[in-house]
Amino acid sequence: MTRFGRALRFAVRGVALLIALTFLAARAERVGADEPIEIFDAHLHYNWEPKPYYSVDEVLALLKKHRVTGILATSRPNTGTHALMEAKPAGLKVVPFIRPYRVRADIQTWFGDPFIFELVQDEFKRGYYRGIGEFHISGRNAETEWVKKTVDFAVANDLYLHAHADDIAVEILMRHNPRARIIWAHTGFGLSTDRVAEMLAKYPKLWGELSYRGGIVDGSGKLTAEWRALFERYPDRFLLGSDTWINERWQTYGETMAGYRAWLAQLPPKIAAQIANGNAKTLFGSER
Ligand SMILES: [Zn+2]
Repeated sequence: MTRFGRALRFAVRGVALLIALTFLAARAERVGADEPIEIFDAHLHYNWEPKPYYSVDEVLALLKKHRVTGILATSRPNTGTHALMEAKPAGLKVVPFIRPYRVRADIQTWFGDPFIFELVQDEFKRGYYRGIGEFHISGRNAETEWVKKTVDFAVANDLYLHAHADDIAVEILMRHNPRARIIWAHTGFGLSTDRVAEMLAKYPKLWGELSYRGGIVDGSGKLTAEWRALFERYPDRFLLGSDTWINERWQTYGETMAGYRAWLAQLPPKIAAQIANGNAKTLFGSER
């Protein structure tokens, strides 16, 4: 090839590269103008047993990357929540909840364990907590005096409860103290939407958090008619969550958020914004 030929080919490549870069820049601008909907993650565990999966900085970067601007934070033990609070991250609202567990095994026994009630009271002295949970309770296990004491303590101190519970246990919690305010982790998992609707109607201070909740979309990712109807009927009663209870949930954090955004996009924008972040902002808006 002649020197002229080489120079020409070089110039052509340069122009092609410029065109490609211009195109990419234009596309990036369009993406920027149409940012993904802001999400409040109302079920985040930053477990610390004895070391977290991600450092605080890595967690904050991950949340920022996926446009998560608020978190309901809990940790086993509570060390992880302390670390998030101490970080005072810019652009992220951290809403700390007291986890009533020291180790994983406490899940099975906390409701009959006076030591746990002491732990809750002790932890509360930090002054910044907004709730107690996530705790696990099923059926009549909710009837113990330690559960009642926990519910009463929450009501007396203006704390929410974050309960991974079946509908029977939720009803017992509400009976312990009708002034309880409960965030219902997983919203009953596979419980029928009729029953969920009945619970929401009966308890105005009950909010459904939707991690691991089945039936919201069909096999092709389309929002199901029954869930659309429920969201339209109770737009102010649902929250989203990642439930990072195991490392795998951290690894797939972006997919979880993308999954939420995919069905939120099928709702009227006002309702989508309420579920994505507005309801959480209403619940946790005021500072302690
Ligand atoms: Zn959880």
